Amino acid sequence: MDEHVHERDHRIAVYPGSFDPITNGHLDIIRRALAVFDRLIVVVARNPNKKPLFPTEERLDMIRRAVENNPRVTVDHFSGLLVDYCREVNARVILRGLRALSDFEYEFQLALINRKLDRSVDTIFMMTGFQWFYVNSSIVKEAASLGGSIQGMVPDFVAEKLSKKFDTAR
Ligand code: ADP
Repeated sequence: MDEHVHERDHRIAVYPGSFDPITNGHLDIIRRALAVFDRLIVVVARNPNKKPLFPTEERLDMIRRAVENNPRVTVDHFSGLLVDYCREVNARVILRGLRALSDFEYEFQLALINRKLDRSVDTIFMMTGFQWFYVNSSIVKEAASLGGSIQGMVPDFVAEKLSKKFDTAR
């Protein structure tokens, strides 16, 4: 086995995403991950292809509030290469959630690119709970913007924030 594989702390996982905003699907993955890893670093990544609804600071605050300051969860943000971030925090696992088959192709590409960039990092996928199968931030935003109820898909305080945001926009 490669020596460098052992240098990293295998008990830490980095969970990257836009989290715009955090949903109960994300929280399900976080909960599952905490049953496997000792520490989880949830990182808000800047995705140049997406225009976020919530500024980074607000997204970080929402995650912090949703994980209720669990001492095993760190919330952070970054805007460089994910593998560089992993090196910085000494993690060797990138955690991603899988929902429908449609996630697979993109996630597969991402995992392979990250492996090519740094062979000491592995991507681990966790399968979402059945009830979160159809939940993602985009769908939630779309429903909220049209005045639909998103109760149960996101934490209550996130639902409130969303409806306020779209109420003032209307
Ligand atoms: P990104 O812009 O990187 O896709 P997201 O915030 O949309 O960021 O998602 C972050 C991660 O969480 C991704 O791995 C995504 O597949 C996963 N995820 C999002 N929604 C769910 C869900 N309902 N169940 C499980 N995983 C999810």
